[in-house]
Amino acid sequence: TVNIFWFRRDLRLDDNAGLYHALKSDQPVLCLFIFDSEILDKLNDKKDARVGFIYDSISNVRDELQKHGSSLLVLHNSPDKAWEKVLKDYDVKEVYTNHDYEPYAKQRDEAIAKLLAKHNASLKTFKDQVIFEKGEVVKNDGKPYTVFTPYSRKWKDKLNDFYLSSYPVKKYFKNLYKTEALPLPSLKSIGFEQSGQEIPDKKYTDVIDNYAETRDFPALQGTSRIGLHLRFGTVSIRKVATDANEAREKTWLNELIWREFYMMVMHHFPQTANHAFKPEYDRIKWINDEEQFKAWCEGKTGYPIVDAGMRQLNATGYMHNRVRMITASFLSKDLLIDWRWGERYFAEKLLDYEMASNVGGWQWAAGSGTDAAPYFRIFNPEAQTKKFDPELKYIKKWVPEYADFSKYPKPIVDHAFARERCLKAFKEALSS
Ligand code: FAD
Repeated sequence: TVNIFWFRRDLRLDDNAGLYHALKSDQPVLCLFIFDSEILDKLNDKKDARVGFIYDSISNVRDELQKHGSSLLVLHNSPDKAWEKVLKDYDVKEVYTNHDYEPYAKQRDEAIAKLLAKHNASLKTFKDQVIFEKGEVVKNDGKPYTVFTPYSRKWKDKLNDFYLSSYPVKKYFKNLYKTEALPLPSLKSIGFEQSGQEIPDKKYTDVIDNYAETRDFPALQGTSRIGLHLRFGTVSIRKVATDANEAREKTWLNELIWREFYMMVMHHFPQTANHAFKPEYDRIKWINDEEQFKAWCEGKTGYPIVDAGMRQLNATGYMHNRVRMITASFLSKDLLIDWRWGERYFAEKLLDYEMASNVGGWQWAAGSGTDAAPYFRIFNPEAQTKKFDPELKYIKKWVPEYADFSKYPKPIVDHAFARERCLKAFKEALSS
């Protein structure tokens, strides 16, 4: 008989809540990772750097487990088929895993829990990727917050060492299931190749103390680039939040709270993955011009700050937060293209893609989300450039031809005209 620990978006051994609880159970623990074909089959880019990153991360986990006389069971299939195989090959009593708050993941886990029950096995799940989840930070009447500031206040009030302390997983490694090395399928055999794209490292401490001054300037290395590691759990949020909480100033901690706020919103309002948080915003009559969408994707809008952002995204899988706001505002407001088109494009390209934050960020830009700011906040690309890239360093890095301004293509839409058109379209939708 074995108990299984199922890795998903927590690809590390240290300070892993579910793994800790598994190792403290009464059976030896076999670790499992499934390359979910339902997700992988939908990825168009067979060199998707995120798949390569997951592959490398689980390879490291497997090496480490093998040093302790165990291994990692790696399967490539739909989760139900993969689990049927596990249940056929092993006598499984309990399965341990960490919570995932995305709608697809919640459905998947419900289905697997049912399948396990049929085999007299149970699914035990734990909070791991956030400090506070689901109903832990709610209004006094028990309802979820839908506004960030009071949520963040309550989050900070509730924070103490208990929530930040790490799980001493290594102490219990002796409870790992002993086995020969289990086969690791090649990346090629699951249909992918390494991209060669650079993966940011896990360092973040050097930016935290000056974050408030540097965060808004895309030409600086003023943010941490830790997003990808938080997404796949290659760092522990408890460790990261501890460092953020001990920093001289707390702006960076606030960003981590935004991450949890959006996950909490996605958990309570799963319909917002595909619909406006404020339902009346689903009535907006988008223009959805395919040509203009293509120009935006390729960084050819004629607005250098927008183009620089999109080119940074296309080349590196990353875009600075300030520029994410500018490009998202431009797409949804200046071009009147459905924010969901942009959300999907970012989802394909961002290494740090996180459904809750991406949807949250896009709905913030489109004005349809939890944010209270009125829809007539429309970013002016030129004013944003003057303020946040005054020496045009960021623009020149990503749009070198901008140096010769006379040759730079004309804007695909005039901002002043687009602004008025947007105000009209939003007003009509919201008053109808
Ligand atoms: P830092 O500035 O160093 O912040 C540290 C961490 O805090 C980030 O890695 C992230 O986990 C979290 N964080 C920071 N800002 C936010 C925020 N506004 N909302 C939620 N979490 C935040 N973030 C994602 O992680 N994934 C996304 O898919 C994503 N899509 C976005 C789309 C749009 C349109 C916008 C406006 C923002 C989006 N963000 C997203 C939020 C933010 O832009 C990124 O988290 C940030 O740029 C990542 O860079 P960093 O790791 O250097 O962040």
